[in-house]
Amino acid sequence: MSVAENVALVRERIQAAALAAGRDPAEITLSAATKVQTSETIREVIAAGVTVCSENHVQEFVAHQKDGAYEGAKVHIIGHLQTNKLKYVVGKVDLIESVDSLHLLEAISRQAVKLGVTQDILLEVNIGREASKTGIPPEEVLPLAEKAVALPGVRLRGLMAIPPISPEPGANRPFFAEIFQLFVDIRANLVDNREDIICLSMGMSQDYEDAIAEGATLIRVGTALFGPRPPKPAQAPPVSKDPA
Ligand SMILES: *Cc1c(COP(=O)(O)O)cnc(C)c1O
Repeated sequence: MSVAENVALVRERIQAAALAAGRDPAEITLSAATKVQTSETIREVIAAGVTVCSENHVQEFVAHQKDGAYEGAKVHIIGHLQTNKLKYVVGKVDLIESVDSLHLLEAISRQAVKLGVTQDILLEVNIGREASKTGIPPEEVLPLAEKAVALPGVRLRGLMAIPPISPEPGANRPFFAEIFQLFVDIRANLVDNREDIICLSMGMSQDYEDAIAEGATLIRVGTALFGPRPPKPAQAPPVSKDPA
């Protein structure tokens, strides 16, 4: 299947999932999770009508941007960000979805103020409370959201979550429901900012229909658009210093 055929298929499924949930399919934005893809493939998915590319790695973002690969689409950052990389992304991407600590939030604010820009952000929630994952625990979302709306240079747009990986179909629905409730809660609490807080990013290739059923407005899909990613390359063997 070509990327364009995959895009069409995913769009059909988005439409069906939205209608089944009594939602308008236009409320849901499909973003392409483009990690490990080439600039050529990124151009292909944009030509097929995808309007947002989501990148995990700053290095890949910088390389594709240099190639002009994103022309016609927005770019989001969805991977863990180190503060020393912020100069490459703040003011250069449309949305940073992976704000997972107060430290990072404050650093984004400082960089944005320095550049005189406003950076749109989401807070990333560790909804399954997994030790192996980044993201803030659910009970810390509201306090951090309050800080975010008070800081200059950043505009809080909503929440992002990656639930635990589960082989069971439907297993993540309770997590999606929980994050939707958090989203409703922060909108109810931050009344002055609720016009801005409109984005709920959840759902990937395996579970985006469930995420849509539970209120997602943005889904991040990689494998279902591009096919399986190649396994990470094995670590290179140590280079011998002695000439053979
Ligand atoms: C890779 C990735 C996705 C897409 O995953 P697929 O299962 O390939 O659809 C979505 N979100 C994040 C944060 C990712 O790293």
